[in-house]
Amino acid sequence: MSESSAPHPQRGSGKRRGLSLAVLSATLAAGVLIGSYLKSFSLTERPQPPSRETSPPVAEVPLVPLSPPEVPSDLIEEEYTIGQNSSVYHTLLLAAKIPNEEIQKIIAAATTLSALHKIPRNTKLSLYRNVNTSQVVKLAFKLSPLKILILQQNAAHEWIPALENKEVTTRESVFAGTITENLWNSAVSAGIDPQTVYTFADIFSWQIDFDREIRPSDTWRILVERQYVEQKPFQWGNILVAEYRKGDEYFVAVRYKDENGISGYYDMNGVSVKGAFLKSPLRYSRISSRFQKRRFHPLLRINRPHLGVDYAAVRNTPVRAVGDGRIEVAGRVSSNGIMVKIRHSELYQTAYKHLQRLGKGIKKNGVVEQGQIVGYVGSTGMATGPHLHFEFYENGVYKDPLGKRFPREKSIGPKKLTQYKETAENAMQRLNASYVNNLRTDVVPQS
Ligand SMILES: [Zn+2]
Repeated sequence: MSESSAPHPQRGSGKRRGLSLAVLSATLAAGVLIGSYLKSFSLTERPQPPSRETSPPVAEVPLVPLSPPEVPSDLIEEEYTIGQNSSVYHTLLLAAKIPNEEIQKIIAAATTLSALHKIPRNTKLSLYRNVNTSQVVKLAFKLSPLKILILQQNAAHEWIPALENKEVTTRESVFAGTITENLWNSAVSAGIDPQTVYTFADIFSWQIDFDREIRPSDTWRILVERQYVEQKPFQWGNILVAEYRKGDEYFVAVRYKDENGISGYYDMNGVSVKGAFLKSPLRYSRISSRFQKRRFHPLLRINRPHLGVDYAAVRNTPVRAVGDGRIEVAGRVSSNGIMVKIRHSELYQTAYKHLQRLGKGIKKNGVVEQGQIVGYVGSTGMATGPHLHFEFYENGVYKDPLGKRFPREKSIGPKKLTQYKETAENAMQRLNASYVNNLRTDVVPQS
């Protein structure tokens, strides 16, 4: 009963690590859009982009033309992997049958750039032989997707080492879809990677409750950066524009970096998409009992109003503070079980009940930020099973938070507004243009 309705795992709140300088400089050299990559993703933590070449995005706009790879015609390539138990030396000696003295020369030549005995296992090695003599004349160790160590013989048969840094190009892609079941299925089947789907949902987490408010035939579009190495998608970048049409309602969010270098999402008028309160204290859940003035209580077996919203979720699902505030209650309070109550402003308070345990550092009089984990779903106090009982108060009176509209937080200041609107309209044009261009090329083939 308490199984979460979400088909995907909870996203870790893991720290994001920066991109290496090499990538950044390569990106800079490519002269492409520089978002705040340092913040937004890492090389190692993001899942590999799914290979969905068969179901391409609606359109892709190459910002930097790609050069064709070099293919030397007089060389034969052999591929090796540095094995679990074999060193580079053994691979060269036993698998590639290179004489020991030649290997010593290769190792000596490489040391100025990279110690070959430290090359990790599973590193790919490309070995090139002269077609006529079968002599090995070039070695290429793929140290990372972006970095290759090359050893090449010159005319005097000396081994010359070189480090090749692959050029990273950034392109913008448009993806679009129509909801049949939920955003997740729609976005993933359009070819978007899971992390980007999460980001998409997070962008609108103040305005749209993707668990409850969306309907079949809702539509969405995104303009997103993707990075390529040698024409292959390498990793996903920032969402530049996100759009969602929910019935007659239209939501749009454009990425913009403010003068302090902090990026955020704003609507076309420069109003932040962030609100004072998140739409839900749980990321994925279903509502098992709504706010009701009158309800038969299953344990007390009497008619008693239900002055909150119950969210069914598996035990230990993280519970988020819906807004910034100061903690008024943190601990066990009789039939409420372990609970947290937060004062957000003079006007608003929220409470989170039947928790399994409190979140890290959650204590009375402490300060919490929006989205911070205040506790975990449980069944402490008077509860029939694990669920979150969530209460919302206005002027100390219980209110139904569902469907309530709250003012949004910040807007772009008047000085920057013109610049912002230009950025936003430009991004919107790129979203529209790639969409239209794609339709056009589909209909009228280029001669
Ligand atoms: Zn309840």
